[in-house]
Amino acid sequence: MTQAPVELSPKFATKSGRPLSIGVGTGTKVKDLKRADASNSESIIQTLKLALDSGFFHVDTAECYTTHPEVAEALKRSSKKREDLFVVTKYIPPGNVFFEQKSTGAHNFVDLALEELGTDYLDAVLLHHPFFKPDIKPDLETAWKDLIEAKKLGKVRHIGVSNFRVEDLKTISKISAIETDNDASYQPAINQIEFHPYLQEQSPGIVKYCQENNILVEAYGPLTPLFRVKEEEKDHPLTGLLPELSAKYDRTPAQILLRYTLQKGILPITTSSKEERIRQSLEVFDFSIDQADVDKIDSVGSTYKLRTFFIGLF
Ligand code: NDP
Repeated sequence: MTQAPVELSPKFATKSGRPLSIGVGTGTKVKDLKRADASNSESIIQTLKLALDSGFFHVDTAECYTTHPEVAEALKRSSKKREDLFVVTKYIPPGNVFFEQKSTGAHNFVDLALEELGTDYLDAVLLHHPFFKPDIKPDLETAWKDLIEAKKLGKVRHIGVSNFRVEDLKTISKISAIETDNDASYQPAINQIEFHPYLQEQSPGIVKYCQENNILVEAYGPLTPLFRVKEEEKDHPLTGLLPELSAKYDRTPAQILLRYTLQKGILPITTSSKEERIRQSLEVFDFSIDQADVDKIDSVGSTYKLRTFFIGLF
């Protein structure tokens, strides 16, 4: 079987030059978003350390996950050098949050994140979502300008977003151009969105727009069809195709979904508490799915719709 190249944006790499690869998340396992409790905290550290020791080097967190301290501890316990890691966190401006927020603005957020994560730079900071309450400051424009400033100060290597629609991206893209005299390195670099065969467009035209504009698309929830479909709908369309492809390529259904995501030019952010699954998630770069099968996942997947995050906002 020939290995299909996975074309992710070449501009993303760790400081030491390792090209960006599949990411491990620390968000969906936190039971209480106000704060990871003590017992949960140790298990988040252990899981992340296991992922780092197994070969993950791209770590996803966010202020609202409250997992900065756990990420810091896992990084400390792992043998990885900081420059070989790609550490991403996400920010929601005050007034738009549902958790006890510590930061008071973007600059303060970046400084706090650096302190909590025990690092002197962040590989990327993403604005977590574009759903800002109207008439509240800072608005989207101010929040984005603050992130541009944080990058200018060298505290952040890349600035990006999450859950943004095409119109939101166009808005901040214009701000970047004006504020930086058209310096392309200040354009939004990443858009992290919900993506899987049952939600191929989180918002209209988003994947195509990002890919045409050099914005790396990251997928959260890439394994959704395996475990987030309601029990009463267990005969959803991929229940036939995934086992078939799994047998054809001698890979697990999760590996098929992760490889599918990569072959769409999208970088998956996944997570697991189980050693075997963590290892399997990294074994998706030594095989490829025929384009006809990628197309089949697309067409079978598009017959069923499932959105599990930010429901009712798009
Ligand atoms: P996935 O779709 O990869 O789902 C992970 C879940 O899948 C885990 O609960 C895991 O359970 C299960 N799983 C892992 N491997 C397998 C397998 N082989 N077979 C069956 N189930 C499996 O990712 P998430 O939706 O959890 O999101 C990943 C990360 O993305 C988050 O941690 C967070 O960092 C980020 N995120 C960002 C959002 C945003 O708004 N920007 C929103 C949501 C998430 P188990 O532990 O039992 O293996």
